[in-house]
Amino acid sequence: MKRCISCGRMVTEFVEFPCPDCKEKIARCNYCRENKNAYKCKCGFEGP
Ligand SMILES: [Zn+2]
Ligand SMILES: [Zn+2]
Repeated sequence: MKRCISCGRMVTEFVEFPCPDCKEKIARCNYCRENKNAYKCKCGFEGP
């Protein structure tokens, strides 16, 4: 289980990828990924 960076829920199905900026691992649930929900990394990077 990981916390989705977009919706903040604990999710079991997610994708993990490095932040384009700080390379920190970001977890995002499939729902947010498919809906292209915005996220904000703790380094300040925002994106889909
Ligand atoms: Zn989510
Ligand atoms: Zn970052």
